[in-house]
Amino acid sequence: MERGKLIVVSAPSGCGKGTILAEVLRDPKFYFSVSCTTRAPRPGEVDGVNYNFITKERFEALIAEGAFLEHAEYVGNYYGTLLAPIEENLARGKDVLLEIEVRGAEQIRALRPDASLVFIVPPSLEVLRERLMNRGTEAAEVIDKRVAQAEQEISCRERYDYCLVNDKPEDAVADFKAIVRAIELKVEK
Ligand code: 5GP
Repeated sequence: MERGKLIVVSAPSGCGKGTILAEVLRDPKFYFSVSCTTRAPRPGEVDGVNYNFITKERFEALIAEGAFLEHAEYVGNYYGTLLAPIEENLARGKDVLLEIEVRGAEQIRALRPDASLVFIVPPSLEVLRERLMNRGTEAAEVIDKRVAQAEQEISCRERYDYCLVNDKPEDAVADFKAIVRAIELKVEK
């Protein structure tokens, strides 16, 4: 069986990547890598589905065991990608989606030359701030931090293979599917 593709998706938080990925993931050819995080669950988030919500102590033990393909700290919390489920699913022919921030993506770039990196940007920082405020799950101070972080992240877009603007979600989903198809059809060198 042909191995699946390793696809990294980064987007500043509030870019609507959740909506895009939820639609894309309806196709069973994809496996979504469920990350571990020390952040508290947001309302509606389910342990084992959105993230594995774990303690800092457990996270540090997993680092020590070498269980992570990559990990990073983001706005005061740890986030990390478990290696074993990724390898299993690639071997089963699944396209594996990693939804991670830019420093994690850089680690993947260095470790896995076979990975393709996709970046999603908001139409503007003003639109991003509005979206974060409408979500209503974060305090104003956290929104400021996330917008500042997003601005810095957007400047990293040239390190990615593909960049798509999420203005209208349906257009972004179509663009994302087109990118995945191009990745699948790329001739291995
Ligand atoms: P949030 O707290 O909004 O769910 O995620 C914050 C940031 O952490 C997002 O940019 C998200 O893509 C990133 N992230 C989620 N899981 C991982 C992971 O396993 N590794 C890394 N490096 N970043 C992650």
